[in-house]
Amino acid sequence: MSRACTHVAVAHTTHQTDPMTETESIAYDVVVLGAGPVGENVADRTRAAGLTTAIVESELVGGECSYWACMPSKALLRPVIAQADARRLPGLAPAVQGPLDTPAVLARRNDYASHWKDDGQAAWVHGIGADLYRGHGRLAGPRTVTVTGADGTVTTLTARHAVAVATGTRAQLPDLPHLAGVKPWTSREATSAQAAPGRLIVVGGGVVATEMATAWQALGSRVTLLVRGKGLLNRMEPFAGELVAEALAESGVDVRTGTSVESVTRENGTVVAVTAGGDRVEADEILFATGRVPHTDDIGLDTVGLTPGSWLEADDTLRVTGTDWLYAVGDVNHRALLTHQGKYQARIAGAAIAARAAGDPVVHEPWGPHVATADHHAVPQVVFTDPEAAAVGLSLAEAEQAGHRVRAVDVEFSSVAGAGLYGDGYNGRARMVVDLEDETLRGVTFVGPGVGELIHSATVAVAGRVPVSRLWHAVPSYPTLSEVWLRLLEAYRDN
Ligand SMILES: Cc1cc2nc3c(=O)[nH]c(=O)nc-3n(C[C@H](O)[C@H](O)[C@H](O)COP(=O)(O)OP(=O)(O)OC[C@H]3O[C@@H](n4cnc5c(N)ncnc54)[C@H](O)[C@@H]3O)c2cc1C
Repeated sequence: MSRACTHVAVAHTTHQTDPMTETESIAYDVVVLGAGPVGENVADRTRAAGLTTAIVESELVGGECSYWACMPSKALLRPVIAQADARRLPGLAPAVQGPLDTPAVLARRNDYASHWKDDGQAAWVHGIGADLYRGHGRLAGPRTVTVTGADGTVTTLTARHAVAVATGTRAQLPDLPHLAGVKPWTSREATSAQAAPGRLIVVGGGVVATEMATAWQALGSRVTLLVRGKGLLNRMEPFAGELVAEALAESGVDVRTGTSVESVTRENGTVVAVTAGGDRVEADEILFATGRVPHTDDIGLDTVGLTPGSWLEADDTLRVTGTDWLYAVGDVNHRALLTHQGKYQARIAGAAIAARAAGDPVVHEPWGPHVATADHHAVPQVVFTDPEAAAVGLSLAEAEQAGHRVRAVDVEFSSVAGAGLYGDGYNGRARMVVDLEDETLRGVTFVGPGVGELIHSATVAVAGRVPVSRLWHAVPSYPTLSEVWLRLLEAYRDN
């Protein structure tokens, strides 16, 4: 059996022989497939509710976020942003003109990624009283999961109440001939590389592409950013991508928009990318940050009537449509590919599973504890570039497309006294999108240094549907960036 740890907490599970696999079958209340941040949080909630819980992991407990995404990427970016902030301040700027100490930054990043070891998080799973099974998990019919360990041993788990799939995503590579031979970087290599390549091509214009272009340019690479669309960060307000593109170009990144990669080869170690327009770009490495696909191709979806490789559609309790026992939580359901939103879903799924297990009616009321309504209207996201871009809710275009009668109000951070304190070159803009029906906010976007820490104020306003008239009484402190709220309210009142 490939079980890493067994606990007294599950001593009351029933053991039976599965005639299909002729292996021991172990019963739990809940089986969680995937021990990323989301699976961990589902398990935490179901254990807190007293349900016996197994969690299955094929790689590292902690998932993509801990080892190849949020944590290492932000560890790479923090010194970059701190240096840029310092360079904007007269008096401090001369002291920080030199390059970053790249080996030291990478070493700190290695610490942040726990050196790609999961002992700490495996111990945490142990601590909450869940059982960890290491191996590849697959559904094998309703309420049943098989785990194939590294040694080929198959363990069968059955779930009395629920199976929660939290298997996340992996990078999507384009369908280009011979790409595998080029050994392109995905987000995994971009967040775990142990040295800066001399020249790096980054393909893509989204969050991963802009963040990694920011990081590696500052860490010593000469970055060329190849973007198919007209601009960057196209899921945010257009000015977010514009300001980030300007700043990337200023930092030395060669930003090329409206261009797509037609072929990539590696010639004597050098990567050669040729664009549709015939441009030839050479580099030492090429990173494709061109989207994500769900980890669902080999998890036995066909055994329960679902399509392998598909995103799993779930209702607001995170239960998969058409089942009464299968949940899909986090990235794998494609509702919002963000750790914080997946963990929110996990808390809700855990509560819904526990409520249903206890025979309680699960109330689908809009603001109840069992429904992930914020996924639809109040998802916050921070892009850790310089300047940062942070948004919550709908952009103006999205709100209009959804049929809301809205008005957008824009202000420049140059009108905010607190922004001046960040230095002479502070460049930023804010927009709030007001629903004219009830004068609440549909969305807010901030772009500028330090705005990542400001976005939660907007999330409270959007998620809480706070009327504009009430926001006047949430008085921002002087002199902080938060005074942008006052400027936004004044602009709304006066126009
Ligand atoms: C470069 C990058 C930076 C990011 N930065 C941020 C950020 O700053 N903030 C933010 O909120 N989000 C960020 N994200 C997104 C974030 O990483 C994901 O939203 C988050 O990891 C999703 O968590 P999850 O648990 O759903 O999936 P994952 O973290 O992908 O975890 C899924 C787990 O399931 C396991 N698994 C898969 N299949 C099986 C199987 N068959 N059997 C057993 N185990 C299996 C995997 O090994 C993995 O451990 C970033 C993403 C990338 C790529």
